[in-house]
Amino acid sequence: MQEKIQNLKSNLDENITDIKIKDMPEYNLELVSGVENTSATEEKILSEVTENAEITCKVFTIKVDGKEKAYVKNKSEAEKIIKEIKENTKSDLKIKLEIEEQEKNNKEINEEKTDSQIAKLDVNAEVQEKVKKYEKKQIAARAAENRRKKAEQEKKTQSSSTGQKGASAKVTSKGMFMRPISGGTLTSPYGKRKSGFHTGIDLSSKIGTPIYAAASGTVIFAGGNPRKSYGLYIKIDHGNGYQTLYAHCSKLYVSEGQKVSKGENIGAVGSTGNSTGPHVHFEIKYKGNRQNPQNYI
Ligand SMILES: [Zn+2]
Repeated sequence: MQEKIQNLKSNLDENITDIKIKDMPEYNLELVSGVENTSATEEKILSEVTENAEITCKVFTIKVDGKEKAYVKNKSEAEKIIKEIKENTKSDLKIKLEIEEQEKNNKEINEEKTDSQIAKLDVNAEVQEKVKKYEKKQIAARAAENRRKKAEQEKKTQSSSTGQKGASAKVTSKGMFMRPISGGTLTSPYGKRKSGFHTGIDLSSKIGTPIYAAASGTVIFAGGNPRKSYGLYIKIDHGNGYQTLYAHCSKLYVSEGQKVSKGENIGAVGSTGNSTGPHVHFEIKYKGNRQNPQNYI
């Protein structure tokens, strides 16, 4: 009988590692008194034994990144599945595929699942899912990078058109500064002109027209040579990276170090310095870079 059980062990499945019999005694008696066909009785016993036995079976589990995904009964089958999946998966994503030898209770084993085709499908589904997620992330990252580059490019284009280099975030709001004179005619805008680059705007008006501080701040210069370049001019620092300049004045009403408020009368329109007629030349600088005043007033 023991021999039969041993045979059963090897015949049932080569992967069976252990058989523990729970209910034997009853059948011992029957075996002794058996007068009929002994082999039939033995068969009956064996089938009973199989039903009542705790059978453990050796399986080869395939793990995807440490997670059990399938199992087959043969190590080379498991290896073949992994090899094929690796060959068919073209991605730079590193996925860990391992085989682990395990013992499982026969009742836990789903025979269908040990089929190598099904095991391959299960493992492959998990691998492809991971690849898909990874690709999605890569695409999203690339799109974000492109958006960032585009924004950077736009910023560069913008700053080169206004003649500033490497400007950081700033507030460019219309109305941030007030017009330095009331009315007047714009006779020369900011930017390129025949004789080089015009660093501000020219607003022509009658001699003596009041010039106002475009915003509150501190006078950092008031003076100049009436026969040269800016003539008599005023510079105001507004404390937020911005400075304004008012040139060709006939009169200066403020002096260096003086605090002024927005709209305060600081001088009068003239034609001192390099000027062909009465006007105020008005400039705005942000962090040392000249800006187009028309974007601000
Ligand atoms: Zn000018």
